[in-house]
Amino acid sequence: MKQYDMLVLGSGAGANVASDAYEQGMTVAIVDNDRFGGTCLNRGCIPTKILTYVADLIMEIRNADRVNVKASVEAVDFGALMERMRHETWDESEEMERSFGKVKGYDFYKGTGEFVANYTIEVNNERIKAQQVVIASGARPVIPDIPGLDKVQYFTNKTVLELHEIPKSMIIIGGGFIAVEFGHFFSAVGADVTILQRAPSLVVQEDNDVSELLRSELTKRMKVLLNNEVVAVSEAGGLKTVTSLDRETGNKKDFKAETILIAAGRKSNADLFKPEKTGVKVDKDGWVIVDDYFRTSQKNIWAFGDALGRQMFRHVANQQSGIVWHNIAETIKPAEGHAPRLMKMDYHAIPRAIFTYPAIATVGMTLQDAKASGRPLLVGKADFTSVAKGLAMGNPPGFVRVICDAEAGAILGATIVGPEAPTLIQEITNLMNSGNTDFYPMFESIHIHPALPEVVQQAFGNLAPIDHEHAHHH
Ligand SMILES: Cc1cc2nc3c(=O)[nH]c(=O)nc-3n(C[C@H](O)[C@H](O)[C@H](O)COP(=O)(O)OP(=O)(O)OC[C@H]3O[C@@H](n4cnc5c(N)ncnc54)[C@H](O)[C@@H]3O)c2cc1C
Repeated sequence: MKQYDMLVLGSGAGANVASDAYEQGMTVAIVDNDRFGGTCLNRGCIPTKILTYVADLIMEIRNADRVNVKASVEAVDFGALMERMRHETWDESEEMERSFGKVKGYDFYKGTGEFVANYTIEVNNERIKAQQVVIASGARPVIPDIPGLDKVQYFTNKTVLELHEIPKSMIIIGGGFIAVEFGHFFSAVGADVTILQRAPSLVVQEDNDVSELLRSELTKRMKVLLNNEVVAVSEAGGLKTVTSLDRETGNKKDFKAETILIAAGRKSNADLFKPEKTGVKVDKDGWVIVDDYFRTSQKNIWAFGDALGRQMFRHVANQQSGIVWHNIAETIKPAEGHAPRLMKMDYHAIPRAIFTYPAIATVGMTLQDAKASGRPLLVGKADFTSVAKGLAMGNPPGFVRVICDAEAGAILGATIVGPEAPTLIQEITNLMNSGNTDFYPMFESIHIHPALPEVVQQAFGNLAPIDHEHAHHH
């Protein structure tokens, strides 16, 4: 059996810990059953943002008549844009894979790994063991148990990136961020898209008015059905029929399309890697249980990233990977004369974005979170139309909402929906990590006029106790 100092399951953010360990002189094995680099590089963030950028551009051209420019998209070279996306991501992954085997003590095992005993993984009929084990096994798409689905061809985020031709029509099952990002892309390039969402709103973790604005904007370009549960799927003559049950009326309706994309949530990979064989506890859904320091129930086995089933974003996994490496290094060799000084992750200001159209970005608490916290709140909202740059842009729909603690002035959270939301949210994220985390620097800092950050400042200018939120609007 091959022995290493460290074994890392998953080559996404897991690779960060692996390379830190290798640089510090440890021997390391990384196991992954998919392209090296994990979901973000190969199946998630990066390829999809290459696609949504194209979709944004197409929408900007279509919306140019807002500012009296007559423009139209002549043609979309779908084959070439998909090829560019794959080239920018998969080629990088392949290059990283090729670099293995060139140095000693840093090995990549391509195959599904499963624990067979404590600290021991079997992969491709080979057993490997290490003193330190890092589980960064991510998550994979949920395939809902729908009668007939197993008899038709369907795509997930893993396979849809392999397309070479624009599907004429696509039914997307699900209404979370992956569904609305792909919906935005495929409809922009010309597919006839239908989103069938079981929940009463799109992107359910966002506040209702945010989901509702997104629904009303997407509805201009595609069908969006809420409260619709898919109950059967079949295929005849090259067309798929998806039967959905309207959960409000109890009526069933058939939808037909050339392709189906499943975007119905993410599930744990624990069924593949069998954590119980190494004494690692998972919750009822298979997400790995860790303490504040990312220690699992088994000594010297650590877990982080999507494998924990919370805040599933690459920037969260990256931040955690640094903490995990710090904690491992401290555990192995504490700083001179000290007990190990372990670090915790600070979750109070995690930003996240949904790259649809309009884009959505959130940091910290949503309004529903803040109300549930029971704190006295100040809430401020400003529409993009309330600042000069918004007028210049032809009044795009969207708004900024900021939420503060009424007593301490601390910023609790913010949501932005509209142009440049993922960029605009950063100003608030940084404030939430500096000084008293209060909002006063927002007014001490001069904002360029007329530029979009003024809408963020304006939202803070509109702060009022929550009951007066609407009265003080504008
Ligand atoms: C379509 C899509 C779009 C996304 N867009 C964004 C975005 O814009 N921004 C953002 O921050 N996040 C985005 N995410 C989420 C982001 O991709 C994840 O949060 C991130 O990749 C998690 O990293 P990780 O290292 O925890 O897991 P992963 O990157 O998923 O790595 C885990 C790896 O482990 C492998 N693995 C699991 N079990 C085994 C086993 N038993 N044997 C061998 N290998 C195994 C998996 O194949 C995988 O390669 C997106 C996700 C999807 C699906």
